[in-house]
Amino acid sequence: MFERPLNRLFEARKGERHGDTVSGHLAWQNMPELAKVTQNLESDRVEVSVRFTRTQDNVLAMHLTIGGSAKLVCQRCLDVMELDLSGDCDLAVVTSEEYLERLPDGWEAVFANEDFFVDVHAAVQEELLLRVPMVPKHAESCGLVVQHEDQPEEKPNPFAVLAQLKGKQ
Ligand SMILES: [Zn+2]
Repeated sequence: MFERPLNRLFEARKGERHGDTVSGHLAWQNMPELAKVTQNLESDRVEVSVRFTRTQDNVLAMHLTIGGSAKLVCQRCLDVMELDLSGDCDLAVVTSEEYLERLPDGWEAVFANEDFFVDVHAAVQEELLLRVPMVPKHAESCGLVVQHEDQPEEKPNPFAVLAQLKGKQ
């Protein structure tokens, strides 16, 4: 587990020059949109590593590695289930719509302000929201469990009754 909370704002160009990876944790309380669609506690965290690079075709890219899981309500059995949201992604850092249009194909983008500051908390939240399924369900079958209140009352086994009668003779 990372000891330090993750900074919210990163200067992408500076990050790219330094080339180092910055790691920290990010709590649910900093991701209000994600909190709306998950059952996690405000203090629950994901672990995040951020690195900025410049690709061969001159795209300033932010590489995110995220580790953590969400608590979601299974829409089949209505139990809370844990879903692993861990994974990596690469996002192109853009400062304008114009730049966005000029990106090579296949890039997802994250907007930075004119000084190239990126809100990494927002970017991580965005990425995690993409990984939360619209209709979460347990991977294995569930919801097929017998509803206990619907179970018929236990009837006495007729043979057992017979045996009892016999025993009395
Ligand atoms: Zn379920």
